[in-house]
Parts: sequence; structure tokens; C-alpha cells
Amino acid sequence: MGRSELGEARAFAVPMRTRFRGLRVREGLLVSGPAGWGEFSPFPEYPPRECARWWAACREAAELGWPDPVRDRVPVNATVPAVGPKEAARIVAGAGCSTAKVKVAEAGQEAADDIARVEAVRDAIGPAGRVRIDANGAWDVDTAVRMLSELSRFELEYAEQPCATLEELARVRRRSEVPVAADESVRRAEDPLRVRAAGAADIVVLKVQPLGGVRAALEVAEACGLPVVVSSAVETSVGLAAGVALAAALPELPYACGLATMHLLTGDVTADPLLPQEGFLPVRRPRVDEARLAGVEADARPWLRRAEAARRFAPPGPARGGRGDASAGGEPGADR
Ligand SMILES: [Mg+2]
Repeated sequence: MGRSELGEARAFAVPMRTRFRGLRVREGLLVSGPAGWGEFSPFPEYPPRECARWWAACREAAELGWPDPVRDRVPVNATVPAVGPKEAARIVAGAGCSTAKVKVAEAGQEAADDIARVEAVRDAIGPAGRVRIDANGAWDVDTAVRMLSELSRFELEYAEQPCATLEELARVRRRSEVPVAADESVRRAEDPLRVRAAGAADIVVLKVQPLGGVRAALEVAEACGLPVVVSSAVETSVGLAAGVALAAALPELPYACGLATMHLLTGDVTADPLLPQEGFLPVRRPRVDEARLAGVEADARPWLRRAEAARRFAPPGPARGGRGDASAGGEPGADR
């Protein structure tokens, strides 16, 4: 336990069910303030300048809370990793979501593997379900165009980051009927504007912590003008609640969000985790539970030093993180 500028500060370290970004344990700091608990959980390699926006998001949660929701539940997607078709169908059947995101373009696999997986997911989810794919930037333009043409018979909702660069995404978009979503291309507040200017995507994926809070992300969404899919950075239920708050406050939410990520962690800091029910997350802030938190508690001192270092780059006042001049970092989030 420790103290931050805001109040009580508690670090957590929760083992992950499977490796994510090379991590086996998800770590961060929870800070309490007048509005509740906030989460500060930038990835280990992020420098203080990059962490400033993550700190601004934590500070907003603890000091201010979030803008009023315009909906009381948020649709979420199931995520199907690069598994075989039987396992893919099993995941979709068990998830209870009407939208599934299928990972494709896995290193070491063939086009036929992707096609079989997407076909199995389409069969499992039925004609009324939605199926999107995510290549995590792995295809070149010609491969993307060819694969989207192949996979379009399964009626894709959209393709997330089929290629790595904005220029490539724009070229894919001109040659394919399947809508394109930008995920890895959006890491800083100004990125969605670049995505739009480049004609690189039809949809942007936004995450609260890297953009500096719910208000900052709402500003980014409004300035960009493209439909938004909110995704998590594999947070505890405290951090995840900020993603839910963003999805709940967006004027339009035409797509299911990538916020069904609690199952990736083996524990949580609340007795009432933000787990989806029948494809939706409720819009609420889970209460921190002392016993659960104690079960995953870690030394707060290194995290307080990280927060202090980040704070030097943060603009004054809460919820201004999105305006910071933090530099880019690859920030692949949870459901990326
Ligand atoms: Mg993604």
C-alpha cells in the first residue's frame, strides 16, 4: 500500500491465462480518489512520456468520474484466436455473443487455415451474427485484397488492421468491398485524424488509457468522425470500467466492443467482475473488494515511482491527457 498525489495507492499483479504481448502477469496500480478508483497500468516497456496519458486516464477515474452514459449496456464481441475450426466453433458457441472477432494471418499458418476458421465461426454464430477478422497488420496489400475477396462469402462485418501502414490500409480499402478498421494505427490522440485524412479506414478502434481518459477519447472520436469500436488494454475490472464508460457515452455505437477481456486474467480486484452476459457488459463501476485485492497485491513503490515520472509529462488538470505531446509507442491492446 502507498499514497499517491490522489490518495490511497495499491499495486496489483494478476497472472494471465495465456501469454499476451509476451506478458504472463498483468500489473498496475489502483489509486483511490473522490470519484472512486482509477487504474494505471501502462505496459512495462513504456517510457514516462508515453505513460503520461495512462496516468491522466487513472486520474480522471479517481478525481472526476466519467461523463453520463447514453446507454445502460454495451455489446461486446467474442474473440477467436488462431485455433482450428472445431475449437473456433466451440469458443463462439460458449461465448454467447452475437459478434465474433476471428484472428487471421497467424505466422506459420496457411490461407486455408484462416478460411476454415472463419467458415466455422460463421456456421456457429448463424446468419444473423456478425463476423469480423483481425490480421494485426500482418498482410501485404495483395494478400489482404485476395483474402478479403475469399472471406467475403462469409459476410464480414469488417477487417481490423489488414496491413501495417496507413498507406497500405488506404490501398486495401480502394480495392476491397470489406470495410477496414484501424487498430494498431491508432495509438495517439492525433492518429485517428491521420487515419481519416489518409482514407485508411472506415472505423477506428479506441482505448481509454493510451488516449488519456474517457473525455479525451470522446474528443478524439468526435474530431475524427468515424464510427468507434472501444477496446480494452486487458485491465482489471477497475480499468475495464473506463472502457465501458467510453462505450456508454459515445453518441453512436454501431459495433460490438472489444471489452470482453476479463476472462484473460486469472483474478480480479472486485467480487463482481465485469464479465459479459449474453453478449453485453452492464454500464457500472465494480467496487474494489479488499480480500480480492489483497490476493493479488504487489509492492506499490515501483508503481508510485512510475506514476511520479509520468506525472512530469502530464498536462495540468485532470482529463487532459489526450492533449499531451506523448510520443508514439506500439500499443497493442487486449482484444487487439
Ligand atoms: Mg486488433
